[in-house]
Amino acid sequence: MKIIDILNKRNMSLSFEVFPPKKESSFDSVMHAAEEIASCHPAFMSVTYGAGGGTSRYTMEMAKNIKDKYDVPTLAHLTCVSSSKEMVHQKIEEMKELGIENVMALRGDLTPELEKSDPATWDYKHATELVRELKESGEFCIGVACYPEVHPESINQKDDLLHIKDKVDAGADFLTTQMVFDNNLFFNFMYKIREVGVTCPVIPGIMPITNANQVARAIKLSGSFMPQRFKSLVDYFGNDPDAMKQAGIAYATDQIIDLYANGITNVHVYSMNKPDVAKAIMDNLSNILGKDFAR
Ligand code: FAD
Repeated sequence: MKIIDILNKRNMSLSFEVFPPKKESSFDSVMHAAEEIASCHPAFMSVTYGAGGGTSRYTMEMAKNIKDKYDVPTLAHLTCVSSSKEMVHQKIEEMKELGIENVMALRGDLTPELEKSDPATWDYKHATELVRELKESGEFCIGVACYPEVHPESINQKDDLLHIKDKVDAGADFLTTQMVFDNNLFFNFMYKIREVGVTCPVIPGIMPITNANQVARAIKLSGSFMPQRFKSLVDYFGNDPDAMKQAGIAYATDQIIDLYANGITNVHVYSMNKPDVAKAIMDNLSNILGKDFAR
């Protein structure tokens, strides 16, 4: 099933993200976590892809397994900046063979080696080029990344917004945001992205922080702003793992409910291979999910 068809429905839904194992020996345990997350019946599940190639080996296999074994639509991520055209084209053919219909087209982060090399030697410089090739090569539904707090390499927000628009003009069907901890940043972004003429669905990304150590990692990874309300919660409960987990899930649930109440129908949860977190959020929303409250 194409994700754009899910997004065009008015029912409230959640999607979850999983990441593939680094080693073959961990494949079964990661698939087990994915199976448990799939048993929550999310609208779809996304499977990440390692920019440096490290975790890219199992993305397509996991995406195929989740869709075929557990009947949950999947979104396979694909990055391009550390790959040759030949490698990317092989992946595109592999996805077609595996019946993968949905692709998150990403540039990927610049590795230290890439940063030292001459961009003129890269086969891909930006995600737009990958979007264009995916569009030309098949019937994929294409998602792309966006950054309510501006991509760290961008010179300013206007420039970043116009590059997002380029990805949509090249064929992207929907956007998923970097994690946000303050919904107002997302609502602000929605206003600005519509102003530059992007009309496709935008899925907000929510990361439930369930232990204090995750905070520094999440900030490093995303550069996202942490509101004082969230910092207080980590300061107060951070040393008690059970309390922190409960508080982090409640905070993420509160953000999701606020998004739904403001007309957003699908929210993407960075569930990080944690079925207990996915299940707890689903339970918290049991009387809300699947309903159409639009009047
Ligand atoms: P791009 O869209 O190419 O943008 C990168 C920068 O270049 C931006 O500053 C943009 O404004 C600028 N730019 C774009 N086009 C042009 C142009 N024509 N000229 C000049 N500047 C331009 N990483 C992984 O490795 N694996 C994953 O699975 C993964 N999943 C992600 C999922 C989501 C929802 C998000 C938000 C990020 C994900 N990332 C993942 C991280 C992502 O790879 C990085 O943020 C990366 O640095 C940028 O990727 P992009 O696709 O947004 O790049």
